[in-house]
Amino acid sequence: MAAYQLAQERLAAEFAARWAATLAAVEAREIAGSLAELEAAYVAAIRESAAVSRTLSVAFYRLVRALETGRVIGGPGYRPASSLGSLWADFNRATGKRTGTGPREPLPVDTRDPFPAADLAREARRAEETFRHQVADRIERHERERPARQGSAALDDAELVAWEKEFLESLKTGSSGAGGMLVQDGGRDAIHAALQDDPGALGYYRKTDASPCYFCALMASRGAVYKSRRTAAFGPHPHCHCQVVPIFSRRYQLPAENDAFARMWKRFGGGSLADWRTYYSTTTKTKT
Ligand SMILES: [Zn+2]
Repeated sequence: MAAYQLAQERLAAEFAARWAATLAAVEAREIAGSLAELEAAYVAAIRESAAVSRTLSVAFYRLVRALETGRVIGGPGYRPASSLGSLWADFNRATGKRTGTGPREPLPVDTRDPFPAADLAREARRAEETFRHQVADRIERHERERPARQGSAALDDAELVAWEKEFLESLKTGSSGAGGMLVQDGGRDAIHAALQDDPGALGYYRKTDASPCYFCALMASRGAVYKSRRTAAFGPHPHCHCQVVPIFSRRYQLPAENDAFARMWKRFGGGSLADWRTYYSTTTKTKT
C-alpha cells in the first residue's frame, strides 16, 4: 500500500512547505513580535492537513477492509451501495492518483462506525503545545541570547547574520517535523482507534517510508501487531512517515521492506537498542 504511505508523506511535505513560506515571510528580528500570527498560521495549517489525512485514512481503511473481507464498513464518507469500484474511486480521490479500480457490484455492509469523532479541542491543544515548545519557547531563548551575542557588532556582522540564519533553519526543521507528525497523526490515530472498535480487524503492521530511522525499522521488522496487545502503541516521531496499515485477514502480505528489516534483525542477532542503531546505520550505509 505504497500509494497510501506516499500520500500521507506528501501531506506532511505540503504542510512543511506552507509553514516554511510563512516563516520566510518574517524577518528574523521581527519574529518575536509576530508570535500570535505565527501560532495562528501554524495551528491552522496543521489542523487543515490533519483533517485531510484523516479523510484519506478512512477511505484507505474502508478499501483495505473491503478487499480483505468483502464487506463495507460505515462511518464518515460511507455511501449506500458501495462497491469495490466506488471505494477505489474514493481512495483515488483522496490520494489524487489513480491507483486502482474494482467491480461495481454493491458489497454487503457492516453498519457499525468504528471511527471516533475527531476531538477538535484536543487537536487544537496538541498543536498549540507543539507551537509553544518548537517555536515560542525557542524564540524566547534566542531573543535572550541576542544582546550578549551581538555585543558591539554591527547588525550586518557576518557572524551575527549566520547565527540568526542558523537559528531560523533549526526552528524550521524542528517545527515542521513536529507539525508533520501531528498532520499524519490525523490519519494514524483514526486507523489505530478504528481497529480497536472493529470486530473485523485483526491488527496492523507498520509501513515505513523509503529510509526509516533505526527505531522504525525495528518496529517494522516485528511484522504484524495483533489487537490483543493493547499496550502496543504505534510510536511515531517527528520526521517519521510510517503509517498504520490495518489487517483483516491472516492472508495479509507484509511489504518487502518489513521482511528485509526482519532479516537484518536476525543477522544482527540481538543486543541493545544502541547496538542495533549502530548496526542498522552501517548496514544501510554500505547498501547504498
Ligand atoms: Zn517512522
